Amino acid sequence: MRIVILGGDGFCGWPTSLYLSRRGHEVHILDNFIRRRQDRELGVESLTPIRPLEERLQVWQTLSKRRIGFTAMDIAKDYEPFLNFLGRWRPQAIVHFAEQRSAPYSMKSPWHKRYTVDNNLNATHNVLCALVECGLEAHCHLVHLGTMGVYGYKTSRFQLPEGYQKVKLVSPDCEESEETEILYPADPGSIYHLTKTQDQLFFYYYNKNDGLRITDLHQGVVWGTETAETQLDERLINRFDYDGDFGTVLNRFLMQAAVGHPLTVHGTGGQTRAFIHIRDTVRCIELAVDHPPALGERVRVFNQTTETHRVRDLARLIHTLTDIPVAFVDNPRNEQAENELRVVNQGLRNLGLEPVTLSAGLLEEIRGSARKYRDRCDPAKILCRSRWRRLPEPET
Ligand code: NAD
Repeated sequence: MRIVILGGDGFCGWPTSLYLSRRGHEVHILDNFIRRRQDRELGVESLTPIRPLEERLQVWQTLSKRRIGFTAMDIAKDYEPFLNFLGRWRPQAIVHFAEQRSAPYSMKSPWHKRYTVDNNLNATHNVLCALVECGLEAHCHLVHLGTMGVYGYKTSRFQLPEGYQKVKLVSPDCEESEETEILYPADPGSIYHLTKTQDQLFFYYYNKNDGLRITDLHQGVVWGTETAETQLDERLINRFDYDGDFGTVLNRFLMQAAVGHPLTVHGTGGQTRAFIHIRDTVRCIELAVDHPPALGERVRVFNQTTETHRVRDLARLIHTLTDIPVAFVDNPRNEQAENELRVVNQGLRNLGLEPVTLSAGLLEEIRGSARKYRDRCDPAKILCRSRWRRLPEPET
């Protein structure tokens, strides 16, 4: 299959590009390197020493004898070049990772809020609009990386379904009713999550109006760093974000354990989150690509997550394994202190996913990249400095 990877230089996009290339697909990456520039903006670096994309691609070609193409492009801004590229290359699948993906980064300042909205909504809309303008509606399947955060983190007795909720519509006089399914009511917890909930409506509309074939993967927090392909050579290494903006909770704990820094738990640590290992991310994307929705089928939604855990339980687990103490710090987010999370994730399991479990993979991760590169860690960058709400002015 000819597959375009939007955002193929990023944390999920790079290992996915290698994985799909190894399986014989013709892969082409489009990326504008904004993620590498954000590192410079924030004065941080990936814990792992990632190489320039050109070098990564060269190494991959030498090792695998397979070529991955690349074009530098801003999907949110360069509509005409993107359109021309699609028209020429006519991909059978597009995997869309090219969005600003950090909730804390999206809340840093008015500029960061506006950048996140401009980038994410325009990138997604440009992809959809260009697919229609090129006449690729039936030919090309769009696989998008969404987030479990679109559902909101509210405690409920019920499991979160995969995208759609059964509801009963009642006539104004309450005499008649009928059952239907609607998109599960969105409840974003940050500007970043807000853009992902808006993406869902773009998908709904373009699927209904133009018959686009779309799979939206509601992904949990990704943990781990390496896949079989990125481990083939150190120059293929994947990025590992540990800083207060882009470092996600479990990878932050793994790095903190490796460098001997207390495991920083926000608030009471009562937040329950959904998780998935990076090796399962790439596998899930392959499963989604291999199983496009039929022509005329509605947007397919999978909850791309393999297990749920409470944050303080994870910290305790890592403490038990490593003896590193747990430190409770102020929660920068505006969210419920404690929540339960029950998730239906049968769709990808039915397609054949056999997940890497936390209990089996945790120690390997601490002993792997996190420990190997711990000297590259800047402890001053670990804590989250973004705030969801302005702090009260001190009394004068
Ligand atoms: P990342 O920031 O590491 O990678 C995103 C890539 O997209 C970067 O290489 C960046 O340069 C590129 N990009 C961004 N905007 C672009 C644009 N306008 N044009 C071209 N390229 C652009 O992020 P990631 O962790 O790989 O996440 C990928 C996707 O998966 C995101 O959409 C994110 O919301 C979703 N996701 C990630 C996680 C996670 O834990 N990492 C969890 C749930 C969902």
